[in-house]
Amino acid sequence: MELKNKKVTLVGLGRSSVAAALLLQQHGARPFITEVGCSRTHDRWRAQCAEQGIMCETGGHSEEACERAELIVLSPGVPLTAPLVAEARRRGIPITGELELASRFCNARIIAVTGTNGKTTVTAMLHAMIIACGHSVGLAGNNDTPLSQIALLRDQPEWVVVEVSSYQLETTETFHPEIAVVLNITPDHLSRHGTLEQYAAIKARIFEQQQPGDSAVRNMDDPLVAAMPVPEKIRAFGFSMHTSDKNTVFADADNIYFEDMQVASRADNPLPGSHNLQNVLAALAAIRAGGFHWEKSLQGLRRFKGVEHRIEYVMSLEGVDYYNDSKATNLESLRVALESFQRPVVLLAGGRGKGSNYAQLSALIRERVKKIIAFGEDAPLIMTAYDGCTDVELAMSMMDAVNRARTAATTGDVVLLSPACASFDMYDNFEARGRDYKDCLQRLTVSGAPVTNEEERA
Ligand code: ADP
Repeated sequence: MELKNKKVTLVGLGRSSVAAALLLQQHGARPFITEVGCSRTHDRWRAQCAEQGIMCETGGHSEEACERAELIVLSPGVPLTAPLVAEARRRGIPITGELELASRFCNARIIAVTGTNGKTTVTAMLHAMIIACGHSVGLAGNNDTPLSQIALLRDQPEWVVVEVSSYQLETTETFHPEIAVVLNITPDHLSRHGTLEQYAAIKARIFEQQQPGDSAVRNMDDPLVAAMPVPEKIRAFGFSMHTSDKNTVFADADNIYFEDMQVASRADNPLPGSHNLQNVLAALAAIRAGGFHWEKSLQGLRRFKGVEHRIEYVMSLEGVDYYNDSKATNLESLRVALESFQRPVVLLAGGRGKGSNYAQLSALIRERVKKIIAFGEDAPLIMTAYDGCTDVELAMSMMDAVNRARTAATTGDVVLLSPACASFDMYDNFEARGRDYKDCLQRLTVSGAPVTNEEERA
């Protein structure tokens, strides 16, 4: 990609566009960032741009944004249906995304992981396992470090593990990871992708440009993933909890196998729940595909502590264990969280819904949940859906929810924040929600007295 003196417009101001703009500058291009929004967060990024000498506008797209552009780079949050994108298409301006751009300048060997749920867990797990093997490895993508930041480095690591979202895959063209992993497909982001089939087709793009010698890792227990085509001469690996097969990592009740050979034990998995065992199988299949040192990678796995806000153990109080699963922003993640506990659960759920059909989990709620404490915009829908399955209560704030949970839980129970909803009705993001929950937990007094409204406001 020739970038010298090229005028490039980046649409959407945030971490990934600022990193991409720096990469463009490094390669002699003239980046300009345009953003429709205008918030405090945007102000912070704007200040960063000013420091780095990157031109930038917020609060709307000027005429210039399209007129000057010889290339358009979209942030993952900008849909292909945005008016500016339509205008760029009309003018015949090439359009790409930050991941595609960065991958063209990334020398590290790429392991890319996508799927509806588990991406952050599996990428962090793989990162830890590869470090344990003694390789230099970065962690990037749809998280705190855009791939552009790796591509900017003079000394790039040998490997980079990249978390890839469906939004990023919409604009890939030549992106071809040496190892590509698809974990699962369940309904999510359908307001942007339309149908489940379209969503799965976008995810399948991760394999499309792979070259002979590259490896594809698929979840063979997920029909939509197992059916994804992989190009010819690609080494196809699988993972499964049910069937042992060629090139497949498989688990039975005690052990983990590659084809017919026992290669690990289930006890090597340090994380709770069968979904995390699936995550381990996916990581092990990628380790196998990359030819990493097996025993050293297992040592890294055993030491892996999990990622904050994903069924994270927080504390025990009066014989009750408290867990934070704030990252559970869809129904499937709530399902796997509930299945991870054999003890009665007091569940805190709610927030900005994604149009989920809560009734799908009625049987599981009836079986595992002692009480639901609902909060946020979707509280009425949640209360209606589970009325009759278990006790339901409404909470007006996180502190109120935590107080109610403490009253409801008795020795041996689990209190679980697993909202099944986005956080944006009450918080900037799921991390802020999880932190608030943990702060509220810290404020629970051992004396048994609930935290009062005054204390809550203080
Ligand atoms: P992502 O980055 O894809 O959102 P995370 O690792 O952050 O995935 O996990 C998101 C949520 O999904 C958490 O609540 C987590 O417990 C749950 N989860 C993790 N792995 C899986 C899986 N394999 N299947 C279903 N849910 C999962």
